[in-house]
Amino acid sequence: MKKILVISGKGGTGKTFFTASLACLAGNNKVMVDCDVDAANLHLLLHPDIKKSGIFKGGYEAEINKDRCVKCGRCIEVCRFEAIKAIVNKDGNIEKVFIDPFSCEGCSACKLVCPANAISLEKKESGKWFISDTKYGPFIFAKLDVAAENSGKLVSEIKEKAHRIGEKNKAQYIIIDGPPGIGCPVISSMSGIDLAVVVTEPTLSGISDMKRVIQVAEYFKVETKVVINKYDLNLNNSKDIENLCKNKDIEILGRIPFSLQVAKSIVESIPYIEFSGNDIISKLIRNMWAKISSV
Ligand code: SF4
Ligand code: SF4
Repeated sequence: MKKILVISGKGGTGKTFFTASLACLAGNNKVMVDCDVDAANLHLLLHPDIKKSGIFKGGYEAEINKDRCVKCGRCIEVCRFEAIKAIVNKDGNIEKVFIDPFSCEGCSACKLVCPANAISLEKKESGKWFISDTKYGPFIFAKLDVAAENSGKLVSEIKEKAHRIGEKNKAQYIIIDGPPGIGCPVISSMSGIDLAVVVTEPTLSGISDMKRVIQVAEYFKVETKVVINKYDLNLNNSKDIENLCKNKDIEILGRIPFSLQVAKSIVESIPYIEFSGNDIISKLIRNMWAKISSV
């Protein structure tokens, strides 16, 4: 079972449009995963029929037992995240102590100093995962709550679910739409991968972010190949991408020209391969899939 990760280093390069096209080309003997848990969007193109869902508990949050609290204020002093607030009466005495759940990092410092054993750390709900069927095969995705943390852990969890489904179905591929950037979720996406396909664009930020994500792949010793999307928008920058890849011995899988049809396919929520029939971009993506699948 080959694991193919599509990444970009930054958002907006066309990563999801490319991944959805692979969903159409890779046959049904595969599992699709959207590891962009902070802003999942592959489901908008794959139209999943959700079969199972569950709660993700990613971190801890402090809770104060008001019956035990003696209002000493020590927890407020030690909280480096200013997550504990107090209501103070006109005489300057604490009337109530409470925790702002959006600021609490679950570090336990308050629990350690509380003289009344009034603070407990509870696992907090930080998102949801979904297992679905699509006409392209099983598809797993997740949504992290706003301002929730531990996205890397959620990525690991949905990758593990995809792996189990893949093993059970004897799938040939797991195709992963990776998160943008180079942070925790990307590192988590990268583990156990056979090939990372970097979709980039010929802008300065596209080049800079591509370099960073290639460094991450190098660190994890993951084979990398590159797709230049909208290559004709800046031929000089596209040349720079090609030179950079040549120096690192990274294969350019293909160059996709800019087309308003791509934006139209996304607006209509149809994977490009199905939307366009057999135009030049579809042919290019088919050629790229032939190279990817031969790895
Ligand atoms: S667990 Fe840490 S972050 Fe949360 S309230 Fe206590 S001291 Fe502050
Ligand atoms: S340290 Fe404990 S007893 Fe003191 S204010 Fe905080 S919760 Fe209440």
